[in-house]
Amino acid sequence: VSDSTEPLVVYGASWCPDCRRAKQFLAAHRVAYRWVDLEEHPEASAEVEARNDGKRIIPTILFPDGGFLAEPTNEELADRIGLVRRAMADEYDVVVVGGGPTGLTAALYGARENQRVLVVERSAPGGQAGVTERLDNYPGFPEGVGGAELAERMTRQVERYNVEILSAVAVESLALDAPMTRVTLSTGDVVSAPVVLVATGSTYRRTGAHGEADLIGAGVHFCATCDGPFYRGSRELVVVGGGNSGLEEGLFLTQFTDHVTVVQAGPELTASALLQEKVRSHPRMSVRTSTTVTAFEAGPTGKLTAVELEHAGARERLECAAAFLFVGLEPNAGFLAGMLELDDRGFIRTDERMRTSVAGIFAAGDVRAGSTKQLASAVGEGAAVALQVRYYLEALADATARP
Ligand SMILES: Cc1cc2nc3c(=O)[nH]c(=O)nc-3n(C[C@H](O)[C@H](O)[C@H](O)COP(=O)(O)OP(=O)(O)OC[C@H]3O[C@@H](n4cnc5c(N)ncnc54)[C@H](O)[C@@H]3O)c2cc1C
Repeated sequence: VSDSTEPLVVYGASWCPDCRRAKQFLAAHRVAYRWVDLEEHPEASAEVEARNDGKRIIPTILFPDGGFLAEPTNEELADRIGLVRRAMADEYDVVVVGGGPTGLTAALYGARENQRVLVVERSAPGGQAGVTERLDNYPGFPEGVGGAELAERMTRQVERYNVEILSAVAVESLALDAPMTRVTLSTGDVVSAPVVLVATGSTYRRTGAHGEADLIGAGVHFCATCDGPFYRGSRELVVVGGGNSGLEEGLFLTQFTDHVTVVQAGPELTASALLQEKVRSHPRMSVRTSTTVTAFEAGPTGKLTAVELEHAGARERLECAAAFLFVGLEPNAGFLAGMLELDDRGFIRTDERMRTSVAGIFAAGDVRAGSTKQLASAVGEGAAVALQVRYYLEALADATARP
């Protein structure tokens, strides 16, 4: 599906994560759409409510043929816009698992060397970078760049070299069939290749506290830049996690709220000394160490109204407009457990040539143990691993050619 100019309409709100996901999915597949923010155009709510039995479900997406989807999954969106979710071949030189910056860069390099490359992406190309509002530290963009725009640019560049990208398709498992690896997809298809690159990135870790899952996006957030402005004028915001991210984002949040409380489970903050000093001396921030969040409480509107904290066996309720979680990243490597060597946090161990513990399977980017979890490094790792893949394929071809 490319260069569609059909007037598709997406109704939503700027703070709604599913709206961002849907918009990114459409943009990544170059489906033109008109965005209607219901907070700026409340009169448009009638369009949404008319289609959802009076409910204001967002995103609601209207198609030119008069049909609509309410809160669609990426799979539903993919089917509705006519994306092909089946691989064109059974065999490739390289299967890249994950279409984030790492996977797309590696695919670009491989395809430019005439390798047959398949990228399998469970969501939309662009990865975490693609769902980021704005990236300010990626070289080459002096004014910063929107994540969706960068993802779209990367995808277009990769497609120029005829890389096949399957969107809204997950890799469910890998099985070694030396020298090939068989890759089972969520569509039920199986493809194989002598090289599989795992570039599946990572996902924000949650606290696991009661009520958390239901309130994600409704007062429980992972990105202050994305969701902080929604809480302008609030009295209290809670930051969970006392590492660099927690303190940096907590300081950022002070511009929107009267007070920020940082909650840290351990006895000490783990952020840099400079950040700790900034936070401790901030007149509108306080720090609670050896304290855990035991529950997220919803009010009558279904949004977060308070967190329950536990310190030294005593529980306390802290009213807040939102809680921002910065408690680490979960590597997307669960589907590889038992097959590849992982570190104690579940990230994939590689050697200096980005080879995993299984021949023919490489790992790079945020999912790799020791990677720096930055966009520029992800792109760098994509390029670096592509060269290692080339050497591996050349050695394999030499070995096969030898009598
Ligand atoms: C909100 C936010 C803001 C950020 N801001 C910045 C910033 O300002 N500057 C900066 O340098 N970095 C930033 N980052 C980090 C940066 O985005 C990441 O370091 C980078 O995207 C990592 O790239 P990656 O390709 O390794 O992984 P990801 O971007 O995580 O991509 C991995 C892809 O793999 C897919 N996937 C996972 N499992 C499977 C599976 N089983 N089958 C198929 N596909 C799968 C995922 O859907 C995903 O698209 C930010 C990240 C976030 C989330």
